[in-house]
Amino acid sequence: MTGATAEKHDTFVMPTGTGDAIAQFSGKELVQGEPDASSFPSGGLRATFEARGYTAWDPTSPAYVVENPNGATLVIPTAFLSWTGEALDKKTPLLKSMDAIAKSARRVLKIFGKNPEKIFTTVGPEQEYFLIDKNFYYARPDLLACGRTLFGAPPPKGQELEDQYFGSIPVRVLAYMSECEAELFKLGIPVKTRHNEVAPSQYEIAPTFENSNLATDHQNLIMEVLRKTADKYGLVCLLHEKPFAGINGSGKHNNWSISTESENLLDPGSNTHENLQFLVFCTAVIRAINKYAEILRLSIASAHNDHRLGANEAPPAIISIFLGDMLTDIYDQIEKGGAKSTKVGGIFKTGASVLPEFPKDSGDRNRTSPFAFTGNKFEFRAVGSSANIAGPNTVLNTIVAESLDYMADQLEASLKSGKDLAAAVGEVVQAAYKESKRVLFNGNGYSEEWHKEAEKRGLPNLKNTIEALPVVIRKDTIELFSKYGVYSETELKSRFNILSEAYAKALAIEGKTALMMAKTMILPAAVRYLGELSSSVASAKSAGITPNVEVLNAVNNGISDLQKAITKLEKAVYHEAEGEPYDHAKHARQAIFPALAEIREAADKLETLVADDLWPLPTYREMLFIK
Ligand code: ADP
Ligand code: MG
Repeated sequence: MTGATAEKHDTFVMPTGTGDAIAQFSGKELVQGEPDASSFPSGGLRATFEARGYTAWDPTSPAYVVENPNGATLVIPTAFLSWTGEALDKKTPLLKSMDAIAKSARRVLKIFGKNPEKIFTTVGPEQEYFLIDKNFYYARPDLLACGRTLFGAPPPKGQELEDQYFGSIPVRVLAYMSECEAELFKLGIPVKTRHNEVAPSQYEIAPTFENSNLATDHQNLIMEVLRKTADKYGLVCLLHEKPFAGINGSGKHNNWSISTESENLLDPGSNTHENLQFLVFCTAVIRAINKYAEILRLSIASAHNDHRLGANEAPPAIISIFLGDMLTDIYDQIEKGGAKSTKVGGIFKTGASVLPEFPKDSGDRNRTSPFAFTGNKFEFRAVGSSANIAGPNTVLNTIVAESLDYMADQLEASLKSGKDLAAAVGEVVQAAYKESKRVLFNGNGYSEEWHKEAEKRGLPNLKNTIEALPVVIRKDTIELFSKYGVYSETELKSRFNILSEAYAKALAIEGKTALMMAKTMILPAAVRYLGELSSSVASAKSAGITPNVEVLNAVNNGISDLQKAITKLEKAVYHEAEGEPYDHAKHARQAIFPALAEIREAADKLETLVADDLWPLPTYREMLFIK
């Protein structure tokens, strides 16, 4: 429940009692383990339920071998549960949510006369990350402790030339990427895509999609391999959502669909208006996103992601769906009575005689939408780069399961009353669409107009983690997750505490790190420079020259501002508070968050004034552009 993977190693070596040893591994050990469960975040589950925990083999996620210089380890993916049966991990709820959506989807497919062997969700997660030279990293206490820079003035050149995205990959980075890919292939992870991302020193890696459970395990391994491999190349891989202010942050695009062994249930086909089955599934997704937008928003909330969402680079915190021209047109027709045609893209003519002609998509793309239909899947773009994708996928699966059940209920009733399938689908889809269409938005999600329009439509806008957190323990959330057996009320309460604690702790660590850096690195550098300037002024005066004191005054004022900000942050960080984890999180947002911004402003101002040879920290210019 830290969001990362955890590992416990046992040897196969078993003494025989006669001075020898044999390698032994029994089926019992494979199926179940019994580690101590007491030293993980448990949000209250631990105190009530003591230490015993079980690991249970997940046979749907293949075991693999990890090599190290002195041997190798057979790794068995497992779920982790407390002695009383509560899930202490993210895998168990994810698997339960996959069961739930499979069951609901089966009801719908039955209406279409189908009974597939398997129904499962699929995920293809695109991972964005930064790489910087290790030497810079070690000289930045903020990157070491918090994963992001708490200080740093903007570099003279940032990303304004837009020359980084899909740019040529630096040699050292390419070597690193190739090694990561080789390591990932050894683990059975189907990596497919690599490219430069928008920000300087930012990159992306994406695998081919897989069953959600496997994709989630593999995604965790991708993050691990990215981190570990960097060291060998003198690099550090930053997975934080916003390592650098003023520069694009990193996300994880969660491409999601539902499948059987033989078909992708979100593939609209070529005559979409006649594809009743697709229309039912697609409408169920639209209905779910509208109805449960706040739970979906919650599933991507973290102190880290707060720096990114809504910052005109990542989707806004308002959840909306981009459908594209083709589907928008079909739903328009459905709303007016019935769909009669499907828009086609036609042929794309390049105009140059040697270049090939090719079929054109029926609509453009939209990168400002948090939840976009992209041809045969939905792309949930608001997930943070360091997040475990189990959370958002558990939510997606559960809310769509509920929606599919709703569609099945309506369809079954309508068919029972004697309607034919086409009429029943037409009616049910139309009604669900009308009820949910406020969540659809094809325009620019970054624009001010959209924020106003969304408010008019009554769409929720939970701006940060503190606003989103109470949704975890809201009555409707508890009802939904209990109904589908994904999370019990006890489990949700523990998650509420864990998420609150994680938020409060992240901000407390940032606060303490900022204070340490401001007091022992930045302030001393500024004071030294002030000393140099003062003696220059004095020397100038004694030489009979009237000295310019502009810089001296600016530095002096900067030092005063920094000192004031230090005092304020100190008060916020060392405030003794009573109460529940959520109260601490709220305090952190109200007091530490603004104080961090103030101390940064003062320090960054000084960075632009103090002599470079006295400045104790690697700058943005160095970290982002020395590759
Ligand atoms: P983009 O143009 O959005 O950056 P990418 O090619 O980088 O696209 O990534 C698209 C991702 O979507 C890949 O991981 C791909 O495997 C995944 N994907 C494709 N089809 C599906 C599907 N049916 N379900 C889930 N993910 C899918
Ligand atoms: Mg991509």
